[in-house]
Amino acid sequence: MNREKLTPMMQQYLEVKDENPDAILFFRLGDFYEMFFDDAITASRELELTLTRRSAGLEEKAPMCGVPYHVASGYISKLIDKGYKVAICDQVEDPKEAKGIVKREVTQIITPGTFIDNEYIRKDINNYLLAIYIDGYYLNLTYSDYSTGEIYFTEKTFLSKEELINFIKNEIYRISPNEVLINNNENIEIHKILESNNIFINSYEPENIKNADIFKDFNDFFSTEFKDNLKKVIKNNNFSDITSLKKLLQYLIITQKVNLSHINKLNYYDNFKFLVLDENSKRTLELTKGLNTFSKKESLLEILDRCNTSMGSRKLKKWVESPLINREKIIERQDLIESFTKNLLLQYKLDKLLKEVYDIERLVVKISNGTINPREIYSLKNTINNSIEIKDILENENDRLKEFSRNIINLSEISQNIDEILIDNPPVVIEENRIIKREYSKELDELFEIATEGKNWLLDFENKERQKTGIKNLKVKHNKILGFFIEVTKSNLDSVPDEYIRKQTLVGSERYFSLKLKETEDKIIGSKDRALDLQSHIYNNLKNSIKDEIYKIQILANKLSELDSLISLSKVAISNNYVRPNINEEGFIEIKNGRHPIVESYLKDDFFVPNDTFIDNKENMIHIITGPNMAGKSTYMRQVALITIMAHIGSFVPCDSANISIVDRIFTRIGASDNLAKGQSTFMVEMQEVANIIDNSTEKSLLILDEVGRGTSTFDGLAIANAIIEYIAENIKAKTLFATHYHELVHLEDKYDTITNLTIAVDKQDDDIIFLRKIIKGFTNNSYGIDVARLAGIDESIINRAKFILDIIEDENKNISINIDNSNNIDNHPTKENTELNKLVDKIKNIDILEVNPLQAFNILNEIIEKLRDVK
Ligand code: ATP
Repeated sequence: MNREKLTPMMQQYLEVKDENPDAILFFRLGDFYEMFFDDAITASRELELTLTRRSAGLEEKAPMCGVPYHVASGYISKLIDKGYKVAICDQVEDPKEAKGIVKREVTQIITPGTFIDNEYIRKDINNYLLAIYIDGYYLNLTYSDYSTGEIYFTEKTFLSKEELINFIKNEIYRISPNEVLINNNENIEIHKILESNNIFINSYEPENIKNADIFKDFNDFFSTEFKDNLKKVIKNNNFSDITSLKKLLQYLIITQKVNLSHINKLNYYDNFKFLVLDENSKRTLELTKGLNTFSKKESLLEILDRCNTSMGSRKLKKWVESPLINREKIIERQDLIESFTKNLLLQYKLDKLLKEVYDIERLVVKISNGTINPREIYSLKNTINNSIEIKDILENENDRLKEFSRNIINLSEISQNIDEILIDNPPVVIEENRIIKREYSKELDELFEIATEGKNWLLDFENKERQKTGIKNLKVKHNKILGFFIEVTKSNLDSVPDEYIRKQTLVGSERYFSLKLKETEDKIIGSKDRALDLQSHIYNNLKNSIKDEIYKIQILANKLSELDSLISLSKVAISNNYVRPNINEEGFIEIKNGRHPIVESYLKDDFFVPNDTFIDNKENMIHIITGPNMAGKSTYMRQVALITIMAHIGSFVPCDSANISIVDRIFTRIGASDNLAKGQSTFMVEMQEVANIIDNSTEKSLLILDEVGRGTSTFDGLAIANAIIEYIAENIKAKTLFATHYHELVHLEDKYDTITNLTIAVDKQDDDIIFLRKIIKGFTNNSYGIDVARLAGIDESIINRAKFILDIIEDENKNISINIDNSNNIDNHPTKENTELNKLVDKIKNIDILEVNPLQAFNILNEIIEKLRDVK
């Protein structure tokens, strides 16, 4: 395209577009944001806008579409959802003052990880932007929610690339970022993980950012608090590299183009300071998302979250995703929750106050970039006032609550300041409205009074002048040339006082002004404009004074969201009949009448049957659980894992009593999770998961293994399952629940003191099985699979045939478990003989019987016989 021929506006457009090639450019023209050329074609398709054309100076008109500026957010959110970036190009000078074309600049680039529009982002979850930097086996990563100003950093060196990728995979699942910045040369596998999770990816060249000096290059964008904090954290932890942190901060600066005064504290975290739960375990245990719903519904979080505020819900989600492993900290949360469960009046009072608490954690970004509206400032005031009430209440309670109350920062100065200035229930938009309280500024009061009551003032003035002069028909009038004036008819000229200054003489009257009238006229004319100017000046000062305190507002937000989470857990404990678990460090988990928190809440007609658990690192280390299909094996095992996790969160738990040992990791291998998208078979995935568990679990871990080995042929599966249990019993020594349909495995109880067999009781009456859902010692050698198939409605003739086949198979395999028992006596290292035999077997397998004639068959048989004689 010949750019010189373009109209000046189009040239300006293209210059801006050149600087933002990867974003859809919203170009402000009057009351619209317009898009041109390819952007217009894309946007009209994605947003269902009419595509029009505009003359651009070229022969062919330019494709164009647009949206009104005041509804742009909705369209932007749709584009962001579909994975686009949007650059907002605004007029940056007053069109009236522009010489030639109005100056326009990109004022913000909106991306999936930096989108903060309250109306369109999910309130109960954070919107994270994640930056990753990888160098060989070394990694550092930083993630931040721009709307709240939270920022987290970690670094680690791994023993292998595989470990590193596993770590990233788990972190991506935990953080669920909407956008990722990752160094360019990085691994296809990570890109695949990001793509399959629909995460927006930006690649970067680490060399360009590695040597940047945060304190010099980004200096103007940060608060002093943040700079001091950064220096401290970096020095204390002696990080080897902070490229991801630099990249993330630089990206925020480039896209937001404003000061980041709400980012104040770098949180360094170490995952191993929390209970380690890998992606698979979190998913299968349905911690934050239901397996069937892919949303919060039917998850543990749904059960536990009765928070009043969105910031409370976000905090609780973090707790559920990162349970504690420090006994003291767990007990601290328990004590606080117990204070509320034991004092329902207190719980009720706090709950009520929290209902009126605003999501001030997400207000900070608006305070920082100056877009906070009067209604939001008013909500901030009310929240601060409520927090002071909360603080007062807690101060008079037990020591734990007193300590908690000490950490609720008192921001009464801010709320008093707001209270002095801002009217009650102010409107969202200022425009023509009054938002500043009367008597705050005499000047403003007068201006508004004159502006709104100018007319009354004049009438009043007219009256007073009539009385003063005795001229009954004296009038105060206004015209464009003279402005305001006093008109006196000729017959009354004698009574005109000296202070009147003549302006004009008409046939029957004289027109005057007085100093007072002139003064008022100056005030009336444009007084509304001046009132609004002064009002916005006062309002801006208020905003700035609040901005200076952002850091403190964040401290308050954090404590209020903690309190909200604690109150939520205490409400759930009461209404769901949970109890406070004892927390031990002695390695045993004891649960009396435990229940599955999610299943019990969804059982409508049936009652949940509770079960006991005792598992430790000694005689009760490994439980092999057999039992019919549908009996409740998976439910039982998940319930043990969930109760253990809940206890680590500090929550109360669904049972009659519990004594839970601190564990370092919980691994679950449940169900066959197909990963066809990544080109791996079900069994391959299963084995990878098991390999990961075996490699990473310790004596302090809790392992939940459900039907390991089921994805392959019966004998392969049985052999693998058997070998895995032996390995855990001998090497890892982790507390393990192992559910299986391989009844042959129950023999292991005799072989190891640490293994116990458990089964789930059923009652069989004639052809019907009744599930009793009770865990008992012992085992079953019947899966009742065929009975379950009948219950499911499979044709009777198939059922009968299956029974017949089962009888034959069972008869043939009777001796398998006896043989496994003796398997230790067989030297299972490959010998020369074994190798020869294997070769022979392979050869026989490869014979295509249709291709050989009888004579050849005879020779082959002969060869086999001879070889076998040799081997013997
Ligand atoms: P399979 O071997 O076929 O996988 P399973 O033994 O693992 O089956 P679960 O999936 O745990 O069986 O349970 C089947 C259903 O039984 C659950 O969905 C639940 O509705 C119900 N159930 C399980 N345990 C209980 C219980 N303790 N009380 C009441 N209902 C239960």
